[in-house]
Order: sequence, then C-alpha cells, then structure tokens
Amino acid sequence: AEVKQILDALGIKSVNSGATIGGSKGWLKTKGKELVSCSPINGKPIAGVLTAEKKDYDAVMAKAQDAFKTFRMMPAPRRGDMVREIGVALRENKKALGALISLEVGKIQAEGEGEVQEMIDIADFATGLSRQLYGLTMHSERPEHRMYEQWHPLGIVGLITSFNFPAAPWSWNALIASVCGDAILFKPSSKVPLTSIAIQNILTPVVDKYGVEGIFNMIIGSRDDVGEPMLHDPRIPLISATGSTAMGKHVGEVVGGRLGRSLLELGGNNAIIVTEDADIGMAVRATLFGAVGTAGQRCTSTRRIIIHSSVKQTFVNNLVSAYKQVKVGNPLDNGTLMGPLIDEGAVLAMEEALKAVKACGGKVLCGGERITVDGCEGGHYVLPAVAEVKNDFPIVQSETFAPILYIIEYNAFEQALELHNDVPQGLSSAVFTTSLHYQEGFLSHKGSDCGIANVNIGTSGAEIGGAFGGEKETGGGRESGSDAWKVYMRRQTTTINWGKELPLAQGIEFNI
Ligand code: NAD
Repeated sequence: AEVKQILDALGIKSVNSGATIGGSKGWLKTKGKELVSCSPINGKPIAGVLTAEKKDYDAVMAKAQDAFKTFRMMPAPRRGDMVREIGVALRENKKALGALISLEVGKIQAEGEGEVQEMIDIADFATGLSRQLYGLTMHSERPEHRMYEQWHPLGIVGLITSFNFPAAPWSWNALIASVCGDAILFKPSSKVPLTSIAIQNILTPVVDKYGVEGIFNMIIGSRDDVGEPMLHDPRIPLISATGSTAMGKHVGEVVGGRLGRSLLELGGNNAIIVTEDADIGMAVRATLFGAVGTAGQRCTSTRRIIIHSSVKQTFVNNLVSAYKQVKVGNPLDNGTLMGPLIDEGAVLAMEEALKAVKACGGKVLCGGERITVDGCEGGHYVLPAVAEVKNDFPIVQSETFAPILYIIEYNAFEQALELHNDVPQGLSSAVFTTSLHYQEGFLSHKGSDCGIANVNIGTSGAEIGGAFGGEKETGGGRESGSDAWKVYMRRQTTTINWGKELPLAQGIEFNI
C-alpha cells in the first residue's frame, strides 16, 4: 500500500511510456519490450516501462532540435526563473521522490532524500548562475577596436547516467545546461527507469507553464535503439556520461571519433591517508560513512585506507568494532545504515573480489557474507567487508562497486603519497592529519592527483558548489558548481572595429 502511494504521488503507472519530450502532452506511445523495475530491497517488481525504439529516438530528436531553436533565444534569467520553479516543484515532491529512489536503488531514506536535496540545491545554484554566464573583455592591440568573448548555448546535450545516482546527476547536468540555453536528452540507466519518469512528471507543470516542450527530453531504450545512436549523432554536440570506466572509454572513443565533446564522470578508487598524528576517532567515523554509505556504491566511496604503521592496529580495531554495529537491512526501516546491493551481479562481483584478495595473500578482517533480511527475502544483502592488502594487488587497482575496504600500511609520508596515486583512477581523496606539513604536502603539486582532495573530511559527499569530477581513468570531466557550466556552452571571441581605418593584427601592412 505504501509503495502504491509513492507511485501515485509521482504519477507512475503500472506500465509507463519510455520516452517524452516533456510536459503533459509529451509522452510518446512507445511499443518496445517491457522493462520491469524490481526493487533490490526484496526483488519484487515496482512498475514497468515500454521501452523506446529507434523511431521514438528520431521523433524525440526532431522535436528537441526544433525546441532548441526557440529556447536559445529565451533570456538566460528567464530560463533561470524556470529552473527556480523546478526547484520549488522538487521541494514539494522531496519525500515521495526520495522514497522512490530508496525503493528503486535500495538506498536508506536519508540518502534517497539527500539526493533530492542535492537537486534542490543545484536548482538554486543554477538560478543564480543564469545571471552570471560571464565572458571576459580583453584589450585589443589595435586602436579603436573592442574585443570580448561571449558564451552561446551549445545545442542538445545527451545525458547518460548510472544506476547509483538516478536523480542528482540529472540535475547537475540538466539544470545547468538548461540555464545555458541547451536542450537535454536524458537516457537513464535501465536498472532505475522509474526515478527518471518521476523526475519528468515533477517537471510537467513547469514545462507546460513555460512552453518548453522538447527541452527536457527523456528516453529509455536499448543500447542499439538509443545508446549507440546518441553517441554517433552529430546533432548532439556534447555527451555527458556517468558510469563505469569501460563505458566511458567507449563513449570517449565514439564521440571523439566525430570530434564531439564528451564529459566523462567514471569510476573511482578513493583513498584516505591516515597519518600517525591523526585524530583516529574522526578518521574512523569518516571511513565508516565513506565505505559503508550507499552500500559502497558511490563513485566517491572510500575504497582504500593508507595508514601509518604506528596507528594501524588501533584504527583497525576501532573500525572493525564499528563495522559490527552497522545495521544492514531494509533501507526503509529507521535505524538501517546499509541497504542492499543493486542486484545479484553486484553480490557476485563482491564475492569474486574477496576471493581474489585471498588468492593474492590478503586477509579479510570482517564481513563479506551474504545475509537474508526478514521480509526482504528476494533482496541482495551482504555484510560490509574490511581486508588487509597490498596496493599492487590487481583487485585493489580496480573498482569493485561494493562495500569492500582495503587497509594498506605505510611507514613514511612520501611512500603514502606514492601508494595513494598509484592506481589508474583519480576521483576523490582525503588525508586525516593534524600536521600542517602533511596537509600541505597532500595538497601540493606532488600530492593527491585526484579531482577532489580533502583534509580531515572523508572522500564521499561532495558539495554542489565545487566542480565535481576526477582525473586519469575517472575521465577528466567536471560537473556541478564553480565554472563547470562552460562545457555546456560554446565560446565565441569577437572583435569590433569602431574606427574608420583597417589596422591589421601584428602590425602587418598589406597595401593594394
Ligand atoms: P555502467 O557503466 O554500467 O552504466 C552507466 C550508463 O551507461 C547506463 O545508463 C548504461 O545504460 C550506459 N551505457 C553503457 N554502455 C553504453 C553504450 N554503449 N552507449 C550508451 N550508453 C551506454 O555503470 P553503472 O553500473 O550504472 O554505474 C556504476 C559506475 O558509475 C561506477 O563505476 C561508478 O564509479 C560510476 N559513477 C561515477 C560517478 C562520477 O561522477 N564519477 C558517479 C556515479 C557513478
């Protein structure tokens, strides 16, 4: 009954269309294969989606192209006003949408609602940004000339997202791109289609009020019908893709092949360095939140602890006893700290990883077992694991999207920095220390090579105000705050001659 209430509140039917151009009249009559979204909490079906086919993709793209032509001329502050109203609609639906995220992804309620809060925050940020899409003015080297740069809308932004954050990355991209004057084609992960349908329904009154059908488009379909056509489509100047490094390499290659832009937000292998003088209590709390939160299924989840040998045992003892108190269970129950993994495949990957740890000579200190939760028999529950390893084990070098935390010991700080950076990924990082020398070393040019580097806070839970993303195999993209908006626009350098002569640049004379 509770599930039905959530679905009704968000306009989700038992079978839904898999494509829309936004607004109350925007849903297409899709007729593709039915995709059923099952909850990882208990394995039970929540609702279905009739997936979109190639002809639906073509219809949506045609409408998006048309809509962009009008939308790009709407003044940016008016677009900001529209996004402000989307923020209001999200506030009104925060509880229901948060609950649906919990149902579909298996996040605890605080995390489901937290994701919606991030959408609300970015709506506020984007509203302000709509009056701050600044370009620079330069001094021309020629007399009676003026030179400046301006930022124009880019076009249709293709947005591909991962299962673990079905809502917030939509907002980081779609709300910023729309104040920039772009149209959006959103392709969510097929593991979590209902959250994206709910987002579109929440937008409906705003899309209708502002007459912007064709700007907030969404499509759910197979790789052949939707995914690949998006990557190859020259009408999409930017593909923003969040997901695994394997997916990102493919996207980067295909989009690069047509010289399109790609913004890649891929896997992490995030570490915390704990120095000998660190506040161990703080470090343990940050580690617990970072490694166990969202069942280790965040791109910024803490995966490695690089710890000074003199404090290792105390840290590990405290951590393992904290792990034993983590309540794993139905994420909708109060008091649950860790919900299920997304599916059976994720559980198998976790088991494989722990086997590989042992095969390399590592030691599992706790966790890793599957468990059954009463009333949630079809769910995918595990106990979070801690293992002692060496940084160069192949399994430690790759991201396992599950709650496994690796403990790696060091003796000298320089060695800690080397171990820290010696992985292919470069998303989020942290140091716990009370030493200015270690703090600044970690933040210096020879320090962390990640896109995010924190001191005395953990690796997960970035604020929207900063630019979010990472280096190396994390893909190099930046989203959300700071000047990340620039990727959604095209820069134009303009020189105006207001004099009556035609002086050439570099003083060149060209007499005829
Ligand atoms: P995934 O790579 O399996 O899927 C991500 C998305 O890519 C899905 O929508 C999928 O349908 C799509 N996709 C895959 N192949 C495609 C193709 N050929 N053409 C078009 N689309 C294609 O990832 P996942 O399991 O959903 O998510 C987990 C991964 O995402 C982890 O590696 C995690 O670290 C990463 N992630 C990164 C960030 C970040 O901001 N850096 C944020 C969240 C998740």
